[in-house]
Amino acid sequence: MPIGVLALQGDFREHIATLEACGADAIAVRTIGELERCDALVIPGGESTVMQKLAVNYGLFDPIKKLIANGFPVFGTCAGLIMLADEIIDGIEGQAGFGGLPVAVRRNAFGNQLDSFETDLEFTGIEGEPIHAAFIRAPIVERIGDGVEVLSKLSDGRIVAVRSGNLLGISFHPEVTGENRVHEYFLKMVQAA
Ligand code: GLN
Repeated sequence: MPIGVLALQGDFREHIATLEACGADAIAVRTIGELERCDALVIPGGESTVMQKLAVNYGLFDPIKKLIANGFPVFGTCAGLIMLADEIIDGIEGQAGFGGLPVAVRRNAFGNQLDSFETDLEFTGIEGEPIHAAFIRAPIVERIGDGVEVLSKLSDGRIVAVRSGNLLGISFHPEVTGENRVHEYFLKMVQAA
């Protein structure tokens, strides 16, 4: 079965291209029917507040929440990480994600001085060259709950990649720097699930 990419908003096309470059079958998900055809879901970067509204409008919010609670494999990048976090710091009023990942995530954690930047990261479970990562108005994982594995940190110790069960969340965008190995890591998680 294909890997779905939530395609309401944000850089879903880049994720579909990256998954295809990894040899996976990837489809854009905008309907319940498309969601039900998938083995796993990628939630792209974009704007979490808009994604929340669109997910509600498209009737996908509760179904995705339910799938996550039942162990469905989901990979969230940037806004996608915010959508997976159980707690959102600096959200707008009424902001809520799908939840499932027992972490507190701060939105726009780098402020205005450092809106966007690129850096190289070590990533537990990915061998070889460091991961080349683009951060774009990125969130940071401020606290982690029980059973959360930290996979990557910035050099100052701030957490930028976590995993809990079948959920993978990262602050950055590998799909815009030609970095396929985080998607390959997720595909292995999907196979194991
Ligand atoms: N700042 C955005 C948000 O709060 C996330 C940015 C991104 O996905 N690149 O949703």
